[in-house]
Amino acid sequence: MRTVRKAWSPLLWASWKPFGLGEAHPNAYGEIGRAVWENRDQLSYAWRILNHGVCDGCALGTKGIRDWTIEGVHLCAVRLRLLRLNTQPAFDPGILADVDSLQSKTSAQLRELGRLPCPFIRRKGEKGFKRATWDEALETIAGRIRSAEPARTGYYLTSRGIGNETYYAAQKAVRAMGTNSVDNAARVCHSPSTVALKQTVGAAATTCSYKDWIGTDLIVFIGSNVANNQPVAMKYLYYAKKAGTRVAVVNTYREPGMDRYWVPSNLESALFGTRITDRFFLVHTGGDIPFFDGVLKHMIERGLIDRAFIEQHTVGFAALEAELARRSWTELERLSGSTRAEMEALGEMIGGAKNAVFVWSMGVTQHAFGEDNVRAIVNLALTRGFVGREGCGLMPIRGHSGVQGGAEMGAYASVFPGSVPVGPEGARDLSRLWGFEVPSEPGLTAPAMIDAAHQGKLEVLFSVGGNFLEVLPEPAYVQEALERTPLRAHMDIVLSSQMLVDGETVVLLPACTRYEVHGGITETTTERRVVFSPEIPGPRIEEARPEWEVLLDLARRVRPALAGQLHFENTAAIRAEIARAVPFYDGIQHLAREGDQFQYGGPHLCADWKFPTADGKAHFSAVSLPNADLPAGAFLMSTRRGKQFNSMVQELTDALTGAERESVLMSGEDADRLELKAGDKVLLRSELGAMECRVQIAPIRPGNLQTHWPESGALIDRQRRSPQSGIPDYNAVVRVEKLL
Ligand code: SF4
Repeated sequence: MRTVRKAWSPLLWASWKPFGLGEAHPNAYGEIGRAVWENRDQLSYAWRILNHGVCDGCALGTKGIRDWTIEGVHLCAVRLRLLRLNTQPAFDPGILADVDSLQSKTSAQLRELGRLPCPFIRRKGEKGFKRATWDEALETIAGRIRSAEPARTGYYLTSRGIGNETYYAAQKAVRAMGTNSVDNAARVCHSPSTVALKQTVGAAATTCSYKDWIGTDLIVFIGSNVANNQPVAMKYLYYAKKAGTRVAVVNTYREPGMDRYWVPSNLESALFGTRITDRFFLVHTGGDIPFFDGVLKHMIERGLIDRAFIEQHTVGFAALEAELARRSWTELERLSGSTRAEMEALGEMIGGAKNAVFVWSMGVTQHAFGEDNVRAIVNLALTRGFVGREGCGLMPIRGHSGVQGGAEMGAYASVFPGSVPVGPEGARDLSRLWGFEVPSEPGLTAPAMIDAAHQGKLEVLFSVGGNFLEVLPEPAYVQEALERTPLRAHMDIVLSSQMLVDGETVVLLPACTRYEVHGGITETTTERRVVFSPEIPGPRIEEARPEWEVLLDLARRVRPALAGQLHFENTAAIRAEIARAVPFYDGIQHLAREGDQFQYGGPHLCADWKFPTADGKAHFSAVSLPNADLPAGAFLMSTRRGKQFNSMVQELTDALTGAERESVLMSGEDADRLELKAGDKVLLRSELGAMECRVQIAPIRPGNLQTHWPESGALIDRQRRSPQSGIPDYNAVVRVEKLL
């Protein structure tokens, strides 16, 4: 591995203007001032959370404001913006007396009202919610679950802030109530990654560590914008650049934040910025497979692959090689939206590297062929044995603090704890461990729960956090589904728009934040580090309860005969059981104090090229080319984040791109052809809906557009999902009409 150069490196500077004055980039120091102002009534508590807690933002992971990758401060604006959720007081229960008065508020305004103070119930015909006791609220929910077929109930957990203990206890409670219909936010982000990684290399998680970024020869980002979503990753990249690492980005849009970045906690980068990406490769949305096919075709033709590794440690290469030989450059160019020269250029970069890390996100997974996209990335990495050794790895980087552990703890309709597939064998083993019968049929995934609700086949929906209305495509359809669910329970720390949707009975339950949970919690980061986050002393919402405790309480009411098996004394007792149920989490039972952690599997999975597949080999995949041809005059629109944390919009203008929420990013070439200029109003129309936007000219592959999510959810077809993991395809074919 290359070493980090200590001296300043003017060749890497983004600009000679100090602090990037006049350049478009986020104002990190302004964010600190804003956080101080927002949390001024609880400054010391806010500081204790930052200094001692594990960040509840993305899944990079922290210990206070430090980490295990670099020296110095680990803190970003995402975390600062989320801080107020943890420190704000409760709202006056009276504001829920009339729901109509809240309907016009945005989700951001609803969050700013304050924490949920107590349980509430709203029944059909009532104008608003009435205060309830915990006993009333839980008996109302339990009564409906008792009278419903288990298959007609569904449970969903979000990922921000949720700990492994909550996922584990929740899925155990749900399974005790007779169903596997428990799902979490991992479904709509990296479910294709876990499916494809498990099948190809036998490991359903990131195979390397963040440290592998710093000093490796090459990092390839695919459909991933860490500048927006995991900002401290840019500090890792700063050090990587200082060590001579090259960075390639395969994407539809030349993301300004990935191009150059000002790392606020590093003097050199804060002053002059850092040029991050050595080369962008712009492809069509969904053009990754043909692009990587071309890259691989070139590497094979030029002898840039490691035949010895392939022969000794992999299977399936001959079929892939034969398939690639049949594919013409013309076809690959047309479908990828790129050129042969570009494919060859990336092939040379990869072929010339001794080690490389591949990082990808939702631009890869959220497609109807999300699993195949991931397989195509794995193919590339396997050509030179870029897995299981220093400076190498496959990294589906996560955007939610709790999401890595969600499926590993079994809070998933398709897997039990330990990522064991739902089926008779797994159910038998779990039944033995838990002492009650565990259902063996897969449950409803999150999108399938909404479908069932829409068809009148779901009687109870219990949602811990999350907001289906703003996460899933076709919000009008989702709203109808929610309205048709006879009983909905929403447990959260603040109000969300889905809580205000009418229904026969709607119950709201106030949750603790992760920092309030007695006994502390753990989360698992992208690099598989299981980290303990202690309880932080400070003000409390008197009636708020931890989600793990509430779901078990509910299950005991539904299945009183199982009360003995559905009880944990505290979170330490949950961790002790996790260690027994999930062998690769052995060690979690010892996490009890701030800073306690371990990285399951060690720094590298598949170390020494021992692949945990049935035959011990890594598997190449001959992946089909997706049909990406568009009708004449149509565009492929993809969805993106602006200044937001997942679906939580924080600012109307994105400081990284300059785009406003209603902007549509369009290439200059397309704008000229349509006789449009920056700021013009256009109507984007898909087969499902229409949306007014303003044109923003951007360095994006012609033929493609980008709009912000969740605003453009009404244009997206909810029925387009990936075949194995059921992730929605968050892209749409649209036409552009100029508005006067
Ligand atoms: S990069 Fe992620 S983990 Fe780190 S402080 Fe920001 S939100 Fe938290």
